[in-house]
Amino acid sequence: MGLQPMLSAHGLKGRVTLEFQVPVNEERIEQDIQTIATFTETPGNGASRPTFSKSWRAARDYIVKELESAGCKWKVDACGNLHARPNAIAWDSSTWVSGSHIDSVPNGGNFDGVVGCVAPLEVFRAAKEDQKVVPLELITWAEEEGTTFSLGMLGSRAWTGSLSRDQLASLRNAQGQNYLDAGAQHGVVPDKIGVDKIKPTSIIGLIEVHVEQGPGLWNDKKPAGIVNAIAGRRQYSCVITGVANHAGSTSMRDRRDALAGMSEILLEFEKLAEHLGHRTVITIGQLFPKPNAINVINGEVTFTVDFRTPVTEVLPAGDKGIHKIVEDVCAHRHLIYALDVTESLPAIEMDARVCNRLAKAADKIGLKQIPQTISGALHDAAILAPLVPTAMLFVPSRDGISHNSDEFSRIEDIAAATEILAEAVRDRRIE
Ligand SMILES: [Zn+2]
Repeated sequence: MGLQPMLSAHGLKGRVTLEFQVPVNEERIEQDIQTIATFTETPGNGASRPTFSKSWRAARDYIVKELESAGCKWKVDACGNLHARPNAIAWDSSTWVSGSHIDSVPNGGNFDGVVGCVAPLEVFRAAKEDQKVVPLELITWAEEEGTTFSLGMLGSRAWTGSLSRDQLASLRNAQGQNYLDAGAQHGVVPDKIGVDKIKPTSIIGLIEVHVEQGPGLWNDKKPAGIVNAIAGRRQYSCVITGVANHAGSTSMRDRRDALAGMSEILLEFEKLAEHLGHRTVITIGQLFPKPNAINVINGEVTFTVDFRTPVTEVLPAGDKGIHKIVEDVCAHRHLIYALDVTESLPAIEMDARVCNRLAKAADKIGLKQIPQTISGALHDAAILAPLVPTAMLFVPSRDGISHNSDEFSRIEDIAAATEILAEAVRDRRIE
């Protein structure tokens, strides 16, 4: 059991006695995470598990072996995602779904994705020990990061029918193999793509457990957080044109410095994000000044803007603000600009009933007042949310670090999230 260290660490005492005890086992969870961490192409330097690589397959094989000993049957769908259910539950009966991914960014962390696969796995093992059958299906999505085939949440997009066989055939890995060819030996069946796909009516709801990848819960010393929205995103490409000129002979007054214009825009974006509230964030992540030389005023700068907010209604207001700032700054600095939207995704609200169920589950195991939070990053849950009742459960990330070999989450927090999950999926009710 061993939830005691977590409880004392967070000062949470007085757990209620359950009708039956879910024997979630921290040692097993730790063993899973440590074992999967050894399956990497860069030993000693973080998790590097490109989709369909040897290390990725070893991690999947390990999960399959554990599932079998936990009394589960499993299959790989035509898109390459692993599914598992208790032997006693038919494939066509309705269940909860929980899962995440085992692929990683290069030199990534040992918790991103893995935690969300290990949690439902441990629920199966715990339930078996408790001689219970949980109405739960685990899904390990084939490619989530998008670093192997250049498209994020590929496995869930394909299984939900938003990617065709032709589109999958056009996505290639670093070796030049397309998704269908590379996946053939791991269960991908091109002829069945589009046929072997999600049946929303057979899913009660989806709960993805994931590390937060931000510092909120860690700083607030909370063991978990319930995600009630995934931020929407707009991305832009902007080119500002001024005049490249001599850095020595052009007075400050006579300049039309494109980079200075962009810098003013960046500072105005900070104020705009603050003004919009709701944890809105605006980032200029990439910039290419020209000519980018020590003694020349930059006459042109191309840059990207990434704007995210969890409230769909804030998206148009932010969009208007971004356009106005660029226009005003360029006008008073006598610069020319072109601003184009390159991506527009709505915010995704999580299902209130599933969030509520998670809150009640946390309450029941003695974790009072688990905070509600938002996800700034996209996850497979975002792809499933329009189709089935969906919510996420976040586990704190030490100092908010992720996509980095220093990524760390406490086993006791992962165990707490696993217990919440176990409690939430123990029967088929959703309210
Ligand atoms: Zn992830």
